[in-house]
Amino acid sequence: MTAKKALQISIKAIPETGLEIAIDLGPEWLARWHGEDPGLEFADARITGLVRLEKHGRDILVRGRLAGHLELACSRCLESFAAPAAIDFDLLLVPGVAAASAEGEELSLTDLDLDYYTGEALDLESLLREQIILMMPLKPLCDETCKGLCAHCGTSLNRETCPCQTDAVNSPFAHPAKLKM
Ligand SMILES: [Zn+2]
Ligand SMILES: [Zn+2]
Repeated sequence: MTAKKALQISIKAIPETGLEIAIDLGPEWLARWHGEDPGLEFADARITGLVRLEKHGRDILVRGRLAGHLELACSRCLESFAAPAAIDFDLLLVPGVAAASAEGEELSLTDLDLDYYTGEALDLESLLREQIILMMPLKPLCDETCKGLCAHCGTSLNRETCPCQTDAVNSPFAHPAKLKM
């Protein structure tokens, strides 16, 4: 078994009583992710949490909680800021095609997200990455009251006003460029 990434959990090593893993994702882990995915939308992140793995027959129940901060660009003013984020998840991993067997389902699938694993190791790192993507707000805002950028001159209106801020600004059609937000 090759283990290039960290957080590869040997399925055999999960005891019948379950396995709890403290998660503390810092700069090394993030650098690895950025290396593999240069389009990643956040520059920095600090995330901690707890994951519990339980075997149910050949299925693996993964329950966890992650919380921390992601450094995101505000969708209005484009400044980066530390966005608090958290997620709770319940995933049921069933053997994928390669390891499928005729065993019946051991758990009710309602309320659980279903995913697959193959081979002898559980790729917890990939699984956590998926959860972190889900943690990200669709429209990050540095503040609910963020005024954004002037559509004409690009001035950050949180810091200063600009000459463009006249009556015309009050028309809903005055700033068509804002519609892309
Ligand atoms: Zn902003
Ligand atoms: Zn302006």
